[in-house]
Amino acid sequence: MIRLIKNKLLKNNLYKIKNKNVILRVDFNIDLQKERLISKYRLNAAKDTIQKLTQIAKKIIIISHLENKKIKSFKKIIPLIEKFFKQKIIFCNSLNKDAIQKIKNKIVFIENIRLWPGEKSNELKFAKQIKELGDVFVNEAFSVSHRRHSSIYWLPKLMPTFYGLNFEKEIKLLNAILKQKKIILILGGAKISTKLPLIKKFLQRKASVILGGGLANTVWKAYGINVGKSLIEKYVLSDIKKIKSERLILPTDFYVLNNKKIFYRRLNEIRNKDIILDIGNESLNLIKRKLLDNKHYIVWNGPLGYVENKQFQNGTLQLTNLLIKLTKENKNIVVGGGDTIAFLENNRLIKKFKNISTGGGAMLYYLAFERLAFKI
Ligand code: ADP
Ligand code: MG
Repeated sequence: MIRLIKNKLLKNNLYKIKNKNVILRVDFNIDLQKERLISKYRLNAAKDTIQKLTQIAKKIIIISHLENKKIKSFKKIIPLIEKFFKQKIIFCNSLNKDAIQKIKNKIVFIENIRLWPGEKSNELKFAKQIKELGDVFVNEAFSVSHRRHSSIYWLPKLMPTFYGLNFEKEIKLLNAILKQKKIILILGGAKISTKLPLIKKFLQRKASVILGGGLANTVWKAYGINVGKSLIEKYVLSDIKKIKSERLILPTDFYVLNNKKIFYRRLNEIRNKDIILDIGNESLNLIKRKLLDNKHYIVWNGPLGYVENKQFQNGTLQLTNLLIKLTKENKNIVVGGGDTIAFLENNRLIKKFKNISTGGGAMLYYLAFERLAFKI
């Protein structure tokens, strides 16, 4: 578990930033739908820090990555980000110190950092180039902090570094989970491989682990059940076969697609051409009873079905509604994951949750290994 050190937190060190040129790393890996911003929660996560820095810093040089099949550059998105923060932001497609200093605006936004060679390949030389742009570094990008990328991994080793207001909150949120004895972990999504370390660790720690989506398909397949043509991950099957725990809870009924028609199937009825795309009601009821039953901390990451298609949203939506109800009853619930949050945003339900972790990969990594790509 990472212990946050006071003199590394932005909150306690604002005076060290006064009138300084601050390099601010954020995760604005956002998306557009019909020219409108989605994944606003990523902007929200940096809101407090940007507000504070605007009051005290001399200049804020924002760097972020954008990993999007359709949009490669921040240029066209900047007006939308400006609107969100209600601040003037100048886009800059250069890492030249003088060019940036010449810009007469408080906030300068550097082009997609992953477009430069050196960021993803984690080159020290590249971080040294970024370092020249400012006096201090603030990391407000928890969601990429498990990655060994140059601006994340090297920059804090090269200059005075502080961790942002939301970064601090996220670590505290996840530390609270790690301190709990009674946990129910609900994991869905496509791939089990990235979630295996976490599943194993939490089963060992006596947590209940409920699986859905492609993860459950893969486990059933490993146990020798026919899952037809459902999404699975082949190369982890032998590894999964070894996991046997009565606290590992798997769905036993499903909605499947077969020849373009939807059918309800129980576990042993699945046919060779079936594709499992959503969880069935019996399994959902079992999960509901489990969640209502006790005083556990609940952690949820990953949709329970193929939620991109409305016809297969039912399971995830029912789980969401139950978790909202439990949130109102003050139960501790932490939700995370890119696609999970996108689902909540699309259904306008995200504001109903109190504890959201912006990091999908970072959240899983931190919960499993209790560290990030760098030492704080
Ligand atoms: P997150 O980003 O929230 O961590 P993942 O990236 O692990 O979640 O997984 C999300 C993806 O899993 C979604 O695209 C969803 O459609 C897919 N998925 C979930 N269940 C199934 C299923 N039964 N078959 C195919 N895809 C599924
Ligand atoms: Mg995802």
